[in-house]
Amino acid sequence: MKTLSTIDFKDKKAVIRVDFNVPLDDNFNVTDTTRIEAAKPTIDKILNDGGSVILMSHLGRPKGKEEKYSLKHIVAKTSEILGKEVKFVDDCIGEAVEKAAADLKPGEILLLENLRFYDEETAGDEDFAKKLASLGDVYVNDAFGTAHRAHASTTIIAKFFPQNKVFGALLAKEIESLNKVLKDSEKPVTAVLGGSKVSSKITVIENILDKVDHLIIGGGMTFTFIKAQGGKIGDSICEDDKQELALEILEKAKAKNVQIHLPVDVIAADGFKNDANTQVTPVDAIPDGWQGLDAGPKSLENFKEVILASRTILWNGPLGVFEMESFAKGTIALGEYIGEATEKGAFSLVGGGDSVAAVKQFGLEPKMSYVSTGGGAMLEMLEGKTLPGIAAIQE
Ligand code: AMP
Repeated sequence: MKTLSTIDFKDKKAVIRVDFNVPLDDNFNVTDTTRIEAAKPTIDKILNDGGSVILMSHLGRPKGKEEKYSLKHIVAKTSEILGKEVKFVDDCIGEAVEKAAADLKPGEILLLENLRFYDEETAGDEDFAKKLASLGDVYVNDAFGTAHRAHASTTIIAKFFPQNKVFGALLAKEIESLNKVLKDSEKPVTAVLGGSKVSSKITVIENILDKVDHLIIGGGMTFTFIKAQGGKIGDSICEDDKQELALEILEKAKAKNVQIHLPVDVIAADGFKNDANTQVTPVDAIPDGWQGLDAGPKSLENFKEVILASRTILWNGPLGVFEMESFAKGTIALGEYIGEATEKGAFSLVGGGDSVAAVKQFGLEPKMSYVSTGGGAMLEMLEGKTLPGIAAIQE
């Protein structure tokens, strides 16, 4: 893997694609600094080597130059986190930018304006990428959140640095963590897939059936499987047109010797609201007018046993409607089991969307081996796709 340690950055200018697409409140204060903190190790390494850093990122989805999406709003917070002055230039290409980059001295940091102020960024425009590339000597990609996009700054730019392109520390860690789960994994390997729909996870399921020993299926997806097998699911969420597919998945799993674990009981509610009446019912005998919104106690016991016997665990998607307190218990319990297994030496990776939000919300993050920073990017990696941003560095 082409990592930062393969390059001595002394007197070099590094153009780093970071993911500073952070949430801002109405007064343009950064409300979650995780992504800025995540880029710090890469920036520190380059500055410590005696190099300088040119940071480029997108923020939001602006239509042209919209001030509310200006990266100037994050300059102060970025300086505070990096413990150094961050210079800012109000464009990302052009003369003023070229001058600011040329004037940059070893140890200094320059942040460019939002890349998406130009349509050329998402279009993957080669000329635009070339202009960005002209600012530095080395290209570093540390933006996992956009690694699945073939944009100018995430992919196209790499071709202008045939010898001098590397993964930043964050991106390298993401790739390494996923490899620990899908390639060099210690057995038994268990994947937990939850979330609302089979349709959004089908490619992930198909890809990981070849890599895991156990597959725990939870969340709203459960009911398509249960109904397909003839169970009564009441008013639970279900994709009727995916029932055939669900049965095929069960067949394939059997053929590949993967043990599938579905919930056996659920917390059923008489409405999709936090203060609905609830009862525990078998997963395949939910009365009409009731819907399964969380895993039941017997299911959790079964899942616990599988998780604690696992050496490698991948978790994607909540076990219930965790946004409502009444239906968050299954997701929290699962996180605790994974935490316990991790403490005993298992490797655990949480990634791809809502499970990351859940893990953060319930303070489970420190108990996991690694929590991915990229929703869509992680999901595509789990689907077995080669991400353009990663391929561009490896080529
Ligand atoms: P996904 O984005 O596919 O990972 O789905 C996450 C969403 O699934 C969350 O917003 C959960 O509230 C939702 N979800 C989980 N379990 C259920 C369920 N039993 N019924 C309806 N929605 C659910």
